[in-house]
Amino acid sequence: MSTIAAIATPNAAGGIGIVRLSGENAIEIAAKCFFPFSGKDVAAMKGYTAAYGAVRDGDTELDDGVLLVYRAPKSYTGENVVEICCHGGLYVLQQTLRLVLRLGAAPAGPGEFTKRAYLNGKMDLSQAEGVMNVISAQGEAALRAARGTLQGALSRRIGEITSTLVAAAAALAAWADYPDEDIPAVENAALADALSGVKDRLTRLIRDYDNGKAVTEGVKTAICGKPNVGKSTLMNLLSGYRKSIVTPISGTTRDVVEETVRLGDLTLRLMDTAGIRDTDDPVERMGVQLAREKLDEADLVLCVFDGSLPFDDEDAALLQAVRGKTCLAVVNKADLETKTDVDRIRAAVPETVVLSATDPDALETLQKSAERLLGVAGLDFTQELLASERQRACCAAALENVADALSALSAGLTVDAVGVDIDCAVDALLTLTGKKASDEIVSEVFRRFCVGK
Ligand code: GDP
Repeated sequence: MSTIAAIATPNAAGGIGIVRLSGENAIEIAAKCFFPFSGKDVAAMKGYTAAYGAVRDGDTELDDGVLLVYRAPKSYTGENVVEICCHGGLYVLQQTLRLVLRLGAAPAGPGEFTKRAYLNGKMDLSQAEGVMNVISAQGEAALRAARGTLQGALSRRIGEITSTLVAAAAALAAWADYPDEDIPAVENAALADALSGVKDRLTRLIRDYDNGKAVTEGVKTAICGKPNVGKSTLMNLLSGYRKSIVTPISGTTRDVVEETVRLGDLTLRLMDTAGIRDTDDPVERMGVQLAREKLDEADLVLCVFDGSLPFDDEDAALLQAVRGKTCLAVVNKADLETKTDVDRIRAAVPETVVLSATDPDALETLQKSAERLLGVAGLDFTQELLASERQRACCAAALENVADALSALSAGLTVDAVGVDIDCAVDALLTLTGKKASDEIVSEVFRRFCVGK
């Protein structure tokens, strides 16, 4: 395989920049352009050693820096790897990269270092996706989940599930010799048990992934409510600074303002809206239209009521509009006398909190409620979690096949029919970990990486 090179640090000025090479000739190429001040020979450097020296293009000295040497197979990619750490200027990094390309390296594609690590058996495909999630993690829980995947927690769990299925398939193959191909009754029950166990585990993996996305990717959140109930104030409380225009005049929040805020481990992608009431004012109507669309798009709706005013028809219309949505009702202005019908709101929206958006302590109430509602409360981010939509699709396919196998079993179908379903489930799981993934799938996974990783 060719020796590849790329700038591994961001495309911006920084304290240190790294040009990374991987492949059989990596050390040889480095020896032609990096000259240790100690006079030692780069080609003779052992793995896990460093040298301080100059990067030189012929007689021209480009920079000085540190060279790190890793020898195959003890490196990230499993190949010979060198990292030339120089000053983090864009020009100096580009010149250094050009130099090593001229000396025989090929430019690395997106994720090609990690792809080689996968191809050389350093990690499986699910772990490679964990690498990507570590890079994109924006909070502690997301990072913990990504590191768990990277360290193989998910691979181990999928491995266990696959083994159970393989054992079931092997048992089936043994029973195929029975005269009429019927599965003996005792084994039938044991097989159904094993498959049900697998079904439960796959279902849990998918559910945790869907719920965990609220943390790893963020939840599209719409704030809705009549004018003046305190939506902007609530949004300002969440974002920690004044972003929306807060005024006591009805209908002043006309545009949809969008921003991301953290609520504990949750990331809320907030859309402040103009409310969803009907209006004759054309400008406001546009805002209202926009708000309705946002409401449809939202994964979470924060429905705000003014607790200090009696419950009215507009409040009823709002409760009607959010039916079927994942909704958290906020009865605001708890510092004033309560005049609205909290019980009626709670009857329509079980997750109802009474608070004052002007009180910073309200954040904790909101957080607990949102975590409960989104199913994040019981999630353990140190446990195995699926790391991508691709992995979810593999799990869902496996789940469907296992469910088919179970129905085939209970319908008394032949050993062959059940066996085919189990084989398909195993295939889906082997695709997940990459043990049996096509070139297209592998390319697709790494296409989304950055160059240099
Ligand atoms: P919006 O139209 O729904 O965005 O409402 P605003 O956030 O602009 O708030 C309308 C008015 O209610 C402003 O004068 C706020 O200061 C006031 N307000 C908001 N939250 C509270 C609260 O918890 N208690 C009290 N007393 N007033 C509030």
